[in-house]
Amino acid sequence: MKNEIRVRMAPSPTGFFHVGSARTALYNWLFARHHKGKFILRVEDTDVARSSEKMIDVILDGLTWLGMNWDEGPYFQSKRLDIYQKYVQQLLDNDLAYYCYCDPEDLEKEKQAAYKSKEDWQYDRRCLKLSPAERAEKEKKKIPKVVRFFIPNQSVSFHDLIHHEIRREAKDIEDLIILRSNGVPTYNLACVVDDYEMGISHVIRAVDHITNTPKQILLFEALGLPKPEYAHLPLILGHDKSKLSKRHGAVSLMSYKEQGYLPGAMVNYLSLLGWSPGDDREMMNTQEIIESFDLNRINPANAVFDETKLEWMNGQYIYGMSNEMLLQQLWPFMIEYGLVKEQDNEKKKSWLLRVCQLVKLRLKTLTDINDVARYFFVEDYEYEEDGLNKHFNAATIRIVEDFLPKLEDIEEYIALSIEESVRNHAETNKLKARQIIHPLRLFITGRQGGPGLFETMVLIGKERCLSRTRRLINDFKKQQEEKTN
Ligand code: GLU
Repeated sequence: MKNEIRVRMAPSPTGFFHVGSARTALYNWLFARHHKGKFILRVEDTDVARSSEKMIDVILDGLTWLGMNWDEGPYFQSKRLDIYQKYVQQLLDNDLAYYCYCDPEDLEKEKQAAYKSKEDWQYDRRCLKLSPAERAEKEKKKIPKVVRFFIPNQSVSFHDLIHHEIRREAKDIEDLIILRSNGVPTYNLACVVDDYEMGISHVIRAVDHITNTPKQILLFEALGLPKPEYAHLPLILGHDKSKLSKRHGAVSLMSYKEQGYLPGAMVNYLSLLGWSPGDDREMMNTQEIIESFDLNRINPANAVFDETKLEWMNGQYIYGMSNEMLLQQLWPFMIEYGLVKEQDNEKKKSWLLRVCQLVKLRLKTLTDINDVARYFFVEDYEYEEDGLNKHFNAATIRIVEDFLPKLEDIEEYIALSIEESVRNHAETNKLKARQIIHPLRLFITGRQGGPGLFETMVLIGKERCLSRTRRLINDFKKQQEEKTN
């Protein structure tokens, strides 16, 4: 292994941060942190006409959210054009590259025609064969020209740290364009130059780039530059085993933030998409992952993105959090759903922490707070249809109505006294406790399930419990009157 570990994340800015790219970034970052090396950010924006600084923000935000700090950059390739041109010139000077004046549209037509008749097509080096006079003629006419890299006729092999020996015959590779007619380099050239200039020791990227690697190796060799090590990460597939894409649902990293995922859970889950610590640990904090991370334990087989598992893991993280921490994470969502106001954080802090404690087991994502716990905060919660069908009837209403004075009479409004009062009332009236508990829960929370009813009633408060229950009783009576009139 080279002395200094320097890895990079090299996104092409698209205004979108795919979870697959986040996994690639994460593995680079983990590798750098494990080896106390450097994680470098490089924006490969030579292909992009629009402003890339804005588009990179979504990537920087994503990295920051996951806690992946970078040590250098972001470098923008669009601002380094003269560096690439210098290297292209070196290749031209050594006859390892040549000018090509062919019209791209003409070449495209030839290619399409060949494909139609099921023939292979490769650029036939016609511009390499131009005589000095022909070349001078084209120069005189100012025909736009690109620079092509001359692919030597040899086989290229390299050792991939995950896929082991890879070999490719250069005759299958076309003389690739390395500099466009506008002086802007193409991906392979810029990537090679920057991997060298930035002292990259290991190129860790998705396996769909593995076909570029032989081209890049040939470029390194032609330029006389030392090569980095390569590790091509398995793809991430959707549940149907095709490459994970928008068809499968949310694939943008930030949409997971919006859906209420925790960065720690996200890092933990993404770290396991292709890697494992070698024992049966699954729940690991970032520090533990850094300590165990090793390229040797990356599985070359493609990994399947399992949202249910991610959701489960997120739930585990939520459950494992302190109430204080959870409240802090939930806060922006609770504000958004109108469950709290800014000033409540001060005024109702201890009550809020108790609500967190009571519901945390039921939250898989932070956004679940609105569904799982809305009734603690506001009166406009909904009633489960099925519950109303069961409990919104004369017999049940009578039971609850009979019980209400007992609830009113409780002096010390704690879970134990509420429970005692429910059980005593049931016994005296030859009822089962659940005949009171179930409708009471529905009337007070709108739901048929949830955390312990008596604890819930304590947090909602006696007055609110009474008024919610009375409201339903009155609604029922009103409905009956309307029916009889
Ligand atoms: N810009 C390339 C991409 O976004 C990076 C390829 C590489 O890592 O070499 O896929």
